[in-house]
Amino acid sequence: MISRIDLRGDALPEGGALRDLLPRAEFDVEAALEKVRPICEDVRHRGTAALIEYARRFDGVEIERVRVPAEALTKALDELDPAVRAALEESIRRARLVHREQRRTDHTTKVVPGGTVTERWVPVERVGLYVPGGRSVYPSSVVMNVVPAQEAGVESLAVTSPPQADFGGLPHPTILATCALLGVDEVYAAGGAQAIAMFAYGTEECLPANLVTGPGNIYVAAAKRLLKGRIGIDSEAGPTEIAILADDTADPVHLAADLISQAEHDPMAAAVLVTDSVELADKTEKELAPQIAATKHVEDRIVPALSGRQSAIVLVDGLDEGLRVVDAYGAEHLEIQTADAAAVAARVRNAGAVFVGPYAPVSLGDYCAGSNHVLPTGGCACHSSGLSVQSFLRGIHVVDYTRDALAEVAHHVVTLAEAEDLPAHGAAIKARFDWKVPQSK
Ligand code: NAD
Repeated sequence: MISRIDLRGDALPEGGALRDLLPRAEFDVEAALEKVRPICEDVRHRGTAALIEYARRFDGVEIERVRVPAEALTKALDELDPAVRAALEESIRRARLVHREQRRTDHTTKVVPGGTVTERWVPVERVGLYVPGGRSVYPSSVVMNVVPAQEAGVESLAVTSPPQADFGGLPHPTILATCALLGVDEVYAAGGAQAIAMFAYGTEECLPANLVTGPGNIYVAAAKRLLKGRIGIDSEAGPTEIAILADDTADPVHLAADLISQAEHDPMAAAVLVTDSVELADKTEKELAPQIAATKHVEDRIVPALSGRQSAIVLVDGLDEGLRVVDAYGAEHLEIQTADAAAVAARVRNAGAVFVGPYAPVSLGDYCAGSNHVLPTGGCACHSSGLSVQSFLRGIHVVDYTRDALAEVAHHVVTLAEAEDLPAHGAAIKARFDWKVPQSK
């Protein structure tokens, strides 16, 4: 079911050439851009009418308005299963513990006497939070979006999630209940690229946001890439990926379970095992079939995800080569299932999140580790981070200099302005000193 890539024997190539040997999805964000462009343009021009039409076309529901009424949120929380409520509350508690520590404090550097630069951390004013809800519904993603935004101090915060045919065109009740639990009262029933466009351009019902965050499928990731600039985005958190670096100390039962756990998100999900043990590769592959037979979402998600070009078992000569492979891949989730896993994990450079040893599976991070599960995919972990309080803050430099402090450095500023052939820059300094360049003491 899952293909093999054998990189043993020859020395591994460098950089991009190594990445080219690794599994890749056939349909990538670049290809989806052309599909989402007309959808986003339509929302820009027709607003709510376009959102209603796409709800009909992509979600199979007839809706008259996109904003969720307040009563629906209260009702969903009242009717929430107590066990689910307890689990969500624990997930929120742990996420708050971790994210609260990420808050930044303003810092002032005294550059010279009378000259300071302060870095002020200011929350983004209005954010739109995307919570997926196509194949599965993700109340956990409400927690992962809302908690860091709240901890950052964001004042205006709206959640959107696809309308559900089984629930009268509203987002899933567990999503509504989680919003209510977190005190979010602005919620929309819109999914896919059109929801990202709603936040970017605004509609009759929804004010435009400064930033949109959250995970989603390929269309959501493509819309974020397309509209970036018009609206700020977090990372491109698209179809999920798990990579596992394992040696012969790993348990193939755990490995198979973890690969399947992420394949059940999406037929485009990627599951990659990197190991130097052929025996472990064989045992893990053998373990897949019975575990798949015992679960759900088999034909529509797990089988296409594991048998697609994006998934594979990669054989390497040793742990060092394995580390080079997982760094080149830059997985959203990376499990280290080796002897002395913590030491190996400390050597990883590219991953959205790293899960160390046999008792930190990705499922724990999806719900209740305290870490964030909105993580970069498609190799974006090589340059981007997962969602955090930092994602919702902007650092503003506040420059404060006295006349004497400016005088001390004026000749350098004028020299650099002349070197760049920008004499008006120099003049802005000279104008403050009777059109002369003060000489430093
Ligand atoms: P989703 O909410 O992301 O997408 C559903 C929407 O996609 C629909 O409302 C519809 O508008 C749109 N859509 C469906 N088919 C379309 C088409 N042919 N053309 C244009 N638009 C179309 O829900 P989902 O599909 O279940 O996907 C959730 C994704 O989120 C999964 O891939 C999962 O792996 C991923 N995820 C990622 C992370 C992360 O941090 N990277 C975390 C959680 C979930």
